[in-house]
Order: sequence, then structure tokens, then C-alpha cells
Amino acid sequence: MLNGKHLIAGQWVSGDETFQSKPAHGPSHAFAVGTPELVNDACLAAEEAFWSYGYSSRQNRAKFLNTIADKIEERGADLTEIGTQETGLPEARLNGERGRTTGQLRLFAEHILSGDYLDRRFDEALPDRAPLPRPDLRMMQRPIGPIAVFGSSNFPLAFSTAGGDTAAALAAGCPVVVKGHSAHPGTGEIVAQAIHEAIKDCDLHPGVFSFVQGGTREVGQTLVKHPLIKAVGFTGSLGGGRALFDLCAARPEPIPFFGELGSVNPMFLLPHALSHRGDEIATGWAGSLTMGAGQFCTKPGVCVVIEGADASAFAKAVTKALAPFEAQTMLTDGIAKSYRDGRDRIAGAKGIRDLLTTSCDQRTATPYLFQATAKEWLDNQALGEEVFGPLGLIIVADNFEEMMKVARTLEGQLTCTLHLDAEDSTEGRALLPILERKAGRLLANGFPTGVEVSSTMVHGGPYPASTNFGATSVGTLSIRRFVRPVCYQNIPTDILPEDIA
Ligand code: NAP
Repeated sequence: MLNGKHLIAGQWVSGDETFQSKPAHGPSHAFAVGTPELVNDACLAAEEAFWSYGYSSRQNRAKFLNTIADKIEERGADLTEIGTQETGLPEARLNGERGRTTGQLRLFAEHILSGDYLDRRFDEALPDRAPLPRPDLRMMQRPIGPIAVFGSSNFPLAFSTAGGDTAAALAAGCPVVVKGHSAHPGTGEIVAQAIHEAIKDCDLHPGVFSFVQGGTREVGQTLVKHPLIKAVGFTGSLGGGRALFDLCAARPEPIPFFGELGSVNPMFLLPHALSHRGDEIATGWAGSLTMGAGQFCTKPGVCVVIEGADASAFAKAVTKALAPFEAQTMLTDGIAKSYRDGRDRIAGAKGIRDLLTTSCDQRTATPYLFQATAKEWLDNQALGEEVFGPLGLIIVADNFEEMMKVARTLEGQLTCTLHLDAEDSTEGRALLPILERKAGRLLANGFPTGVEVSSTMVHGGPYPASTNFGATSVGTLSIRRFVRPVCYQNIPTDILPEDIA
């Protein structure tokens, strides 16, 4: 079970200071506080491990990923027990997330075996070409070196210690140093135990993976500034992500910071869909908004409609659908407080109408629903900021032109959704090119919560949805973040890497 220590290059290390976990229920445990010295030890070991792991065969890395998945599955009951205690999320959610996490690891194993991600290209030598001969040119993607990973509080397994970032980096051939999330230190440690065992079973260099608990912000800051770290995978808040991104950019050698942050994931309800299916969309929205206490980065927080009787009926239907939802436990006390602060910010904005006002305190959240006109939204940027929790905002536009204006002024989003019927296709066609410039994923007639892990998924988008619009943090394309192209010109085949020889 728990030892409360850091895993640094194969050794479980304690420290002088500890911090206590703050579970939603069940016992609190003590965990060693991370230090800059431990971060340095982990990074030095990761760099040393790169010289073997970065040049290992795809077969060996696939075996490693599958072994991690097996070891996580063996710890399923422990993970669910501690995970539910630390996060307050229900058992079914933890079990489902474990399946997603091991599925992701196995998907990456398959993906690297196929070799497609190497994007190998060959330009044959043309020795007789005039006026100049062409050399033998080959290109493929190579791993970049040690990666720092910061998981998020709301996915204690799938976006954390062995989550998507770690799986993608290890698949690419990059050692990983994880900064444990203070909201689920025990869950993180048990996953680290699973990875530790997989390293031993696969006979890999122990520096391939280290896990440093937090306890102070200095740990994460030292990690992103460490000269041996070559990129950062981060899932979390805009404030935290921006602070760490700025540190990466200010380094003597700036490095890419792949921050997947948040967004309000607007939904546009076109007139015929609103008229024919307003009630159905209202019920669906209420479910998506309150799922997991609204603690999803893809939570659709904003609905844009056009003024009229259908819009009024829709607002009433959403209010009715949301009213029965009871208080849900939030991931941390801090997130619950931020939710109430966000609610107060929206409630206090000029021209806002309260449609559903509830009450919540301590570590709980209840749904809130507000309404504003498109003019008020366009005048007040703050209405477009994410409120992490079950809060919805309906924006009422005077007409379709004003709806287009709202779309044009959106900040970067993870997702944008259209609800449209066949008769709405003219408006849909006009909106789509605008939304395409705003978001990584566009949906029709659905809800953005629930992100498929697959080869086509894009979980990212223009800032502030992410800090790097060319990347995704979910799906097999996410491996691209941790490789870079290398061109080999006239290199004798007997010394070329096996994958390009
Ligand atoms: P968070 O508070 O930003 O924390 C994420 C990690 O970063 C934690 O390890 C945290 O350390 C660390 N951190 C934050 N600020 C830091 C700073 N200034 N210096 C050093 N380290 C820092 O985010 P969260 O609470 O885990 O997640 C909730 C947010 O994440 C929501 O806003 C949500 O929308 C977003 N999210 C986005 C996605 C996505 O894919 N786009 C997915 C899930 C969640 P501590 O452990 O010390 O707090």
C-alpha cells in the first residue's frame, strides 16, 4: 500500500518534511514534500536513461507500455479505493477512468508498433542529376529527451501519473518525470508503484520514470526550468498553465510547453433545431453541464440562442432540468471556492439575469444558470472565462448576424458545438468556417463531454484552450509533441538507426 515517498530513478525516497492529503472522505495520509534536489536527481537520471531508452526498439517500448497497463489493472481495487477518497468522484467513474488509462497505454503500444508516427520519408540519391547531384536523404521523427508531466486534478488516472502525456512520451522514447498532483497524491503514488514494477520487469534503466510529490509550488517550477527537461505536458488551469508556460519561455533554452487548459465550449442552437428539439437539447445540456459536478474541461458552459418564444421556452426547460440536481462533492476545497468565486463574478456582471439560483458551501457545488444578451457578452470579456463547475450561461442574440458576431469574437476553445436541423444548413455553413478557427473539435447535435481516445481526436485548440494550437493531448496524434524530425543525409546505412536504415 502507500509509503508516502517519492520514486526517484528506482528508489523510494522520503524527506524531512511531509504534507497531509485532504481527501473528500476516508483517512488523510502523510506524503514527503518534494525538493529542488530531488527534481535534479530525477532529471539527471532521466537524461542518463535517454541514452538507452531513447534508442530502444519499438517492440520493447510497446512491451513496457502493456506491462504498465497490466500492473495498473492488478492494483485496480486499491486505486479505486484511494481515488474515490481523494477526489470524491464515484467508484464507477474511477473504474471507468482506469479502463481508459490502460486502454490509452495499450493503444500507444499498438500505435508505435505500426511505425506510422515515424513519418519516414526517403529522397533517393540522384548522383547524375544536373546541374547538381542529389544526396541520399531520409527523414524520421526521433524522441526529444526527458519530459516533465503535470497531471490535472479532475482526471486522477487518465490525465495524471500514467495518463495520456506520460503514455505518449514513453511511447515516443522519452523518459518522464511526473510532478504529483497535490489533490490525489496517494492515487499518484500507487500508479508510480505500478510503473516502477513494470520498469523492473522489462529490465529498463530506472531513470525512465520518476515521480516527485509536490507540497510546494517550487517543485513544479524547478522542474520546468531544469536544463535537461526538453518539453512539458501539462493539463490544468489557465492560471497555473500560464505561469509555467512563461517560465519555459524565459529559460536560456526555451522549451515547448504543451498546456491543455480550459474553455467554455460554446454551443450554438440554430433556429429550426431550437424550435423542433429545444426540450431535448435542454435536458441533454443539463446532463452534460452537471456531469462530474461540471468538472470537465469540455463542459459546455455557454449556449447561444436567437431571441424569440423558442429561446424563452428553452431557458425555462433548462432551468427545470437543472433544478433537481443536488449538491455534488468537488475535487478539492480550492476548486469549490473557485467555483463560488466564478459564480459571484458572473452573477455580479452588468445585465445578468439569474435563471436558477441555488446554494452551496464547503466542498460542494450545485448548478447555477444565468442569461445575458449578446450585447452584454460582447461588452464584457469576463463572461467568456471558464467557471469550473456546473454553471451555465445562455447568451441571447437579436438575430443570426449577432450570433455570428458572438462566434467571431470567441477566444480559443477546446470544442464548439452546433445544434442544427436540415433546414438550418445555410446558417450552419456560415458558422462552421468561423468555429473552425476557434476550436480543436467541432461537434453537431451532441455534447462535448466524453472525449474519445482515438487516432482522429483533437483535444486542444487556440490559446487559451491550449498553449500550442498545433497539438492534441488526447489520441495517438499526441505523440507528435514529444518527437522531432531528423534528416539523415548520406549517412552510411550500417550506422543509421534501424527504423530508417
Ligand atoms: P491546476 O491547479 O492548474 O494544477 C495542475 C498542476 O499544476 C498541479 O500539479 C499544480 O500543483 C501545478 N501548478 C499550478 N499552478 C502552478 C504554479 N504557479 N507553479 C507551479 N505549479 C503549479 O489545475 P487543476 O486543478 O489540476 O485542474 C483544473 C483545471 O484544469 C480546470 O480549469 C480545467 O478546465 C482544466 N483542465 C483542462 C483539461 C484539458 O485537457 N484542457 C483537462 C482537465 C482539466 P499543485 O499540486 O501544487 O496544485
